Amino acid sequence: MTKNIPFFNYSALFKKQEKEIMDTIYDVLSRGAYILQNDLSKFEDKLKSFLNVKYAFGVSDGTNALILSLKACDISSDDEVIMSSHTYVATAASAHLVGAKPILVECKKDHMIDPDDIKRKITKKTKVIMPTQLNGRTCDMDEIQKIADENNLIIIEDAAQGLGSQYKNKFAGTFGKAGAFSFYPAKLLGCFGDGGAVVTNDDQVAEKIFLLRDHGRNKDGEIICWGTNSRLDNMQAAILNIKFKTYKKDLYRRREIALIYNEALKDIKELKLPPPPNAEPNHFDVYQNYELQAEKRDKLMAHLKENGVDTIIQWGGKAVHQLKGLEFNNISLPVVEKMTSQFLMLPMHTALVDDDVNYICDSIKKFYKK
Ligand SMILES: *Cc1c(COP(=O)(O)O)cnc(C)c1O
Repeated sequence: MTKNIPFFNYSALFKKQEKEIMDTIYDVLSRGAYILQNDLSKFEDKLKSFLNVKYAFGVSDGTNALILSLKACDISSDDEVIMSSHTYVATAASAHLVGAKPILVECKKDHMIDPDDIKRKITKKTKVIMPTQLNGRTCDMDEIQKIADENNLIIIEDAAQGLGSQYKNKFAGTFGKAGAFSFYPAKLLGCFGDGGAVVTNDDQVAEKIFLLRDHGRNKDGEIICWGTNSRLDNMQAAILNIKFKTYKKDLYRRREIALIYNEALKDIKELKLPPPPNAEPNHFDVYQNYELQAEKRDKLMAHLKENGVDTIIQWGGKAVHQLKGLEFNNISLPVVEKMTSQFLMLPMHTALVDDDVNYICDSIKKFYKK
């Protein structure tokens, strides 16, 4: 029998917690607690203790988390920011919007930024390495830290997809000067609209983020520098406080689903799967996405669609340097380009049941047996 498995299932996730969510919204509305209120401070405290980091600030979204992080580190015109081309356009846009230049590089087999290509692309103008902690995996940060140290560069992490992911028991977002998170609804920890956070262990960066996100206003309510409006809504913070309660369990469920995919699909030679959970002692992956590489990708996608399974090609199947209109016309990154034509994401979220996952695997097996 054909099943119907959407790529993501917002309504099912809402239904699981409907009463608690509606009670919380009612409570926040009754208190009229909207901007920079208690639920936000509570959320920031939870984030700090979860990540074991000194400071956390809720901001309007992940893109602004990146922009404010760069600003707080004084990155501006003439500076270059190195990042993987297999990332969201927002990573590059954040550099562009502070006046700096995004420098795009290749990614490795595990889809993460390629340290060798970082080295090749460093110039006198390079100031920042901005690794994307992609798909719920953390880069090999020892290697990246070494390059940063040798070249006097800072690291600012795009950890929008990495909350809870670890490398050598240290959390994504806590390696560099600053780490940016997104709480977009489909992200690992998703709110009901836009949301984001910046975390840091650096006192000066923290002070600047505090000012920047609220019009340059200090703790006494005085404006002491230029800033902008980039605050996480208190209502969204209240929602995130609910979701945080089950967060660890949710991450383990994602790892469980990844394991089912891995076990069922690992012998299909036309597929290259993401590293399975527990395969590498240095990594704790939390599978924001289950992104694989598939031969005959488009046909597989159509076959799955016919069988009721929705899949997605991340970022429309384009690496950032392939986006028209962003002035990356003359760049060629053959490794990323080849991989981009094979990337595919299978459904991955906590409302998926084992039956669904097995059904998806069976449908894929049938396709490659033909
Ligand atoms: C989602 C995402 C962002 C941007 O986050 P928003 O909250 O949507 O602004 C940035 N980088 C990556 C890698 C993302 O996946």
